[in-house]
Amino acid sequence: MAKGGIEFKDIEERIKKFWEENKIFLSKSFEGKKVYSIDTPPPTVSGNMHIGHAFSYSQQDFIARFRRMFEGSVYYPFGTDDNGLPTERLVEKKNNIKSKDMSRADFIKLCLKTLKEITPEFVQDWKDIGMSCDFSKIYSTIDDNSRRISQASFIELYKKGEIYKKSFPTIWCPECQTSIAQAELEDKEEKSLFSTLKFKCDGKDLLVATTRPEMLYACVGVFVNPKDKRYSKIVGKTAKVPLFNFEVPIIADESAQMDKGTGVLMICCYGDRFDVDAVNRCNLNPKVIMNKDGTLNIPNYEGLKVKLARKKILEDLKNANLIVEQKEITHIVNVHDKCGCGIEFVETPQWFIKILDKKEKFIEQGNKIKWYPEYMKKRYDNWVNGLEWDWSISRNRHFGIPIPVWECENCNEIILGSEKELPVDPLETKKICPKCKSKTIPESMVLDTWATSSLSPYLASNLVENKVKIPFSLRPQAHDIIRTWAFYTIVREYLKSGNVPWNEIIISGNVSLGGEKMSKSKGNGVDPRKVLNDYGADALRFWAAGSKIGADLDYQEQDLVAGKKIINKLSNATKFVFMNLENYDGKSKPKNLELIDSEFLKKVNGLVKDCSEGFLVNEYSKAKSRIEQFFWSDFCDNYLEIVKKRVYQGVGEEKLSAQYTLYNSLLTMVKLFSPIMPFICEEIYQNNFRDFEKEKSIHISSWPKTSSEVSSDLFDSFVSLLAKIRQEKTNSQKAMNSEINLSLDKEELEKFSDLIDDLKNVTNAKKIKKGKFSVEFI
Ligand SMILES: [Zn+2]
Ligand SMILES: [Zn+2]
Repeated sequence: MAKGGIEFKDIEERIKKFWEENKIFLSKSFEGKKVYSIDTPPPTVSGNMHIGHAFSYSQQDFIARFRRMFEGSVYYPFGTDDNGLPTERLVEKKNNIKSKDMSRADFIKLCLKTLKEITPEFVQDWKDIGMSCDFSKIYSTIDDNSRRISQASFIELYKKGEIYKKSFPTIWCPECQTSIAQAELEDKEEKSLFSTLKFKCDGKDLLVATTRPEMLYACVGVFVNPKDKRYSKIVGKTAKVPLFNFEVPIIADESAQMDKGTGVLMICCYGDRFDVDAVNRCNLNPKVIMNKDGTLNIPNYEGLKVKLARKKILEDLKNANLIVEQKEITHIVNVHDKCGCGIEFVETPQWFIKILDKKEKFIEQGNKIKWYPEYMKKRYDNWVNGLEWDWSISRNRHFGIPIPVWECENCNEIILGSEKELPVDPLETKKICPKCKSKTIPESMVLDTWATSSLSPYLASNLVENKVKIPFSLRPQAHDIIRTWAFYTIVREYLKSGNVPWNEIIISGNVSLGGEKMSKSKGNGVDPRKVLNDYGADALRFWAAGSKIGADLDYQEQDLVAGKKIINKLSNATKFVFMNLENYDGKSKPKNLELIDSEFLKKVNGLVKDCSEGFLVNEYSKAKSRIEQFFWSDFCDNYLEIVKKRVYQGVGEEKLSAQYTLYNSLLTMVKLFSPIMPFICEEIYQNNFRDFEKEKSIHISSWPKTSSEVSSDLFDSFVSLLAKIRQEKTNSQKAMNSEINLSLDKEELEKFSDLIDDLKNVTNAKKIKKGKFSVEFI
């Protein structure tokens, strides 16, 4: 046994088993019931739980457990996100194969088999931190049900005209060799050479500055600002491109900034997103040189990758005396968030969901959802307002959910999978064009992972009979995926029903260590399994309850120690209370409660009110600090001391009054603590209260009710007087139980006239008389 502590490991193991055997958290029939539903974030099965998970999943579980007691019915599903790269790698490694060597259908089968084997162990971490999900049915974003839902949604949106396929310069990762979405871009600072090059116009030099000279061969025009007097005479003429000596038009366009470089802007296919925009806007003939693998298709420079081609071309420009000036600059470039590789724009056929035409609608949808913390909505708004592309949902990858489409090789008719054959893999199913009876070409691309996880409310609601209604009550999630998971889920539900996917969203913060962001690469990660082993889940959760939703929290051992301390204290206080409740039946109430008891119960009533209000607006940290403070100070330090003698030595009604108050106030406090520290609270409930209470588990018992009774300040003034007397004892270096004679002034004597016996009991005063306040030791 830990020194002075309880055996938390035994307790947690036992309670976990109890919950499972008694099916405490299984989803019951929701028919006709109001259900509080949670769109639980599905973690990726490939990674172990990290401390950030333990932190944020604990926080959502506080809310789930509170709502279960408060509302009765909670739908709290669990799923894993498995159709992306991490799972592909994991399955390859576990089975020692390469996904590309197998048919996609076989690889998905193997994937599902592997997931079946490893998911139980993976999920154990989530059970160990006390998550109260229904773990009996877990969805995976790659399972049959998810593939069916994802493909059906694709077909539905295609039929509605919200999905289109287009050959378009798409954001492309040359490293991963796939198209990617705007949301997958990260900014990276990079050093670069800004070179001013000699173009020619009418035999004279026309200076153009660029960071991408390797794109010269793809130049299709140069822009000058219509207000720029320096160049007004040459607009409409042509410029000769250095090194390659072909002519491009000189166009007046406001996108050329007069103060940037020489004021002349080179338009290439495609140096950046401005080029994509410019080429389309001005109807220029694209001249594409970028290959999918990031090599360039330029005469004399064939097959070179971007950086190498840049170096060679700069050398050749220099040798030909075509560079006027060069300076080193630092600028921001876009990289792929998964691999850090600089992105390019490559023209490929891709599938898109139309979102650009609905920005205002998405802002409106965002406004209908309650955001916790509220400022996180700004990030959503900024993202929506800054959208520049439709949502590209196709990926040129092997593994993933197939796009359920065939295209006629003769008449280009698009043929969709039929509802009843879903999930379908076009690579495995031949179709004949219904129009011209020609053969069809199966779509080989797969859906981006977000295209499926953005349907999570559907993936989850499908696990139970009498599907849970959408909108769900709550979406808990991390802030770095507001622009992806939150945004795309809002998009999908808007396109489906015009509604919102959930009524509330909570955004969790990060865990830091000594103020620094925790990460594996920095080597300053804290393993949640070690924390569980050293302190237990209740203490870990107690720590996680210490920060408001959305706020970052530093990992500090002292918080875990404090958690362990309160768990011990709760356990010891319970022992003391029940020692004095022998023969008490959990129900009996005296005709009249003693004054101090009824005053204390009124304070408990106020506590319940505050905690409920906190939990109802997802401010569990407020509830936590309120109950923590009340338990230590009002209950342990004061009320217990006040009733000690009465409940121990008293008889009849006055003893019953104390017993009734102790039983009910302790049960209430344990209930208030239970969303945050579920194991110790269940243990206390089972060992002490269960004989008298009808619910099988504290977590499905009802949340304490409040009454309109308001406490006077009598209890608090009484406690202040006790503090004053205790201080006198401390000052005189006397034991707390030392006997005294007490003098109180007239006012106090009157105020506490009905509490004289309690005052005598708790202070060990033999006599209490009128006079100037004094404590006389006898
Ligand atoms: Zn990449
Ligand atoms: Zn056809």
